Amino acid sequence: MNPKERPARQRQPWQSTHRQPFDMAAHGAALAAILQAVRDLPDPSPLALARLLRRHPRPDGGAFSKEQLLLGYRELCRCAGRAPEPEMVRRLQMKPTRTLSGVAPVAVLTAPHPCPGACIFCPEADGLPKSYLPGEPGALRAAAHGFDPFDQVAGRIQALQSVGHPVDKVELLILGGTWSAYPEAYQAWFVRRCLEGLEDLPEWPLPTSGGGEEEAGPGDLAARVAPGGPIWPALEAAQIGNESAPHRCVGLVVETRPDWVTPAEVRRLRRLGVTKVQLGVQSLDDAILARNCRGHDTAATRQAMRLLRLAGFKVVVHWMPNLLGATPESDRADFRRLWDDPALRPDEFKIYPTSLLAGTALYERWLRGEYAPYDEGTLVRLLSDCKALIPPYSRLNRLMRDIPAEQIVAGVTRSNLREVVHRAMAVAGRACHCLRCREVRGAPVEEVTLRLERVEYATDATAEVLLQYLTPGDRVAGFLRLSLPREAPPLEELAGCAVVREVHVYGPAVELDAAQPGAAQHVGLGTRLLAEAGRLAREAGYGRLAVIAAVGTRPYYRERGFVDGRLYMAREL
Ligand code: SF4
Ligand SMILES: [Zn+2]
Repeated sequence: MNPKERPARQRQPWQSTHRQPFDMAAHGAALAAILQAVRDLPDPSPLALARLLRRHPRPDGGAFSKEQLLLGYRELCRCAGRAPEPEMVRRLQMKPTRTLSGVAPVAVLTAPHPCPGACIFCPEADGLPKSYLPGEPGALRAAAHGFDPFDQVAGRIQALQSVGHPVDKVELLILGGTWSAYPEAYQAWFVRRCLEGLEDLPEWPLPTSGGGEEEAGPGDLAARVAPGGPIWPALEAAQIGNESAPHRCVGLVVETRPDWVTPAEVRRLRRLGVTKVQLGVQSLDDAILARNCRGHDTAATRQAMRLLRLAGFKVVVHWMPNLLGATPESDRADFRRLWDDPALRPDEFKIYPTSLLAGTALYERWLRGEYAPYDEGTLVRLLSDCKALIPPYSRLNRLMRDIPAEQIVAGVTRSNLREVVHRAMAVAGRACHCLRCREVRGAPVEEVTLRLERVEYATDATAEVLLQYLTPGDRVAGFLRLSLPREAPPLEELAGCAVVREVHVYGPAVELDAAQPGAAQHVGLGTRLLAEAGRLAREAGYGRLAVIAAVGTRPYYRERGFVDGRLYMAREL
């Protein structure tokens, strides 16, 4: 059923927390004064805006929320018959860092489903997928939507939009246990409904699921729709629909276990439109993996990364220090393996120091005195040493999982651990050179000052090139990952191809018709990176350049000469 045709149901609990109409009659004059002061701010920042709002209180003594201001500003513009100014919207935004990488991230959770793993540190909460906790913000939102993918996506888009974030480019992150262990029918249905949530929806309130197939859980759905049956054409139609949707899916991420990555799984992931895989690696020491009941060894991790990389996926590794049996020194050695072993060398990674959570098997070991969490000093020293080792081609996405402090029985609970580690490194005169620490973020980019550099490294099956555009201050304005395979790929469509695994141009996620002068996304860096990748691939003897395109980026690649294949797009060199 078309989402627009569905009957509106009762307002969901999360909906009431968002948009409140701006009372123009009561606050119009105050709004005008505040907007003028915001326009005059010499150095706009969240802090400066918060101070300004305190200086301009509401008549009842409280402060206007930034969301109210934005609503009021939009209403004023509508009455005056003019479009909102992008710069003014930017100044009124609530969390400017959220979309600084140029893309709005939208995380959704799958419905609870048994995980094939039995990891001793992993929590299990009623009504949530394995490893998620009731107090985590993403889990709360997902549960409020009954894990419905359409409602989760559409709700998140509207929430981001209501605080002024451009949402024309979206990275969908599908979280929750082990994706590959869900029935294929559920996977295809879930992705389809996510994509349908990116369609143009009515303003407010959001229509919610109308029942029938759309509310089926994994078991129900698998029973109703035979794998390989009509689920795929429906997904492919939604993928084509997204090519012209107002919110384009420019990345699709799932999380899974290394031992579930097979050639068949790699093909299915691509068919679903996945572009990036988060891999629960946790350790590269077989004895530690066994003691923590991971159920796979390092050989499985190496094989999974090889298959995924040869198929053009970006790979995000999750790594856990302080597992049962580890010491700070064994963790240092383990972290070095990530980079010393050519079969590993992830594109991105997350460090999740083990959190001791009640109800887990690890908690029982702790009660028996067989396990101890590191103290803060030990953890900060370890993480500082790890960060100093990261090569420039990789990106450290997170340093700590967002677990509510009250759920952690013992050990470090700081939510700003990253800052503490950065401070410790600065004091010691050390720096992290990962992609995240070097990206331009919101700074304006002057195209003529950029220089192109190459970072080359080898993996067990490919030669990798990271092409990066750097500012005079060595900040990354954009980059491209090019794989030059030395072996036959797991998918025959890629035979003889060099593969572009990622093109990323930084800068605030500006809307397509609201380009900001100097924003990195509008100086054609992506086009120039692709041209350079083609030149390098041709020089290396490849006849074709393929790209792993998210469904919403297909028009972009078509405009640059790439032709649709079955699972990839490619152009002759
Ligand atoms: S595989 Fe992941 S979700 Fe499953 S038990 Fe292990 S850590 Fe938890
Ligand atoms: Zn870094």
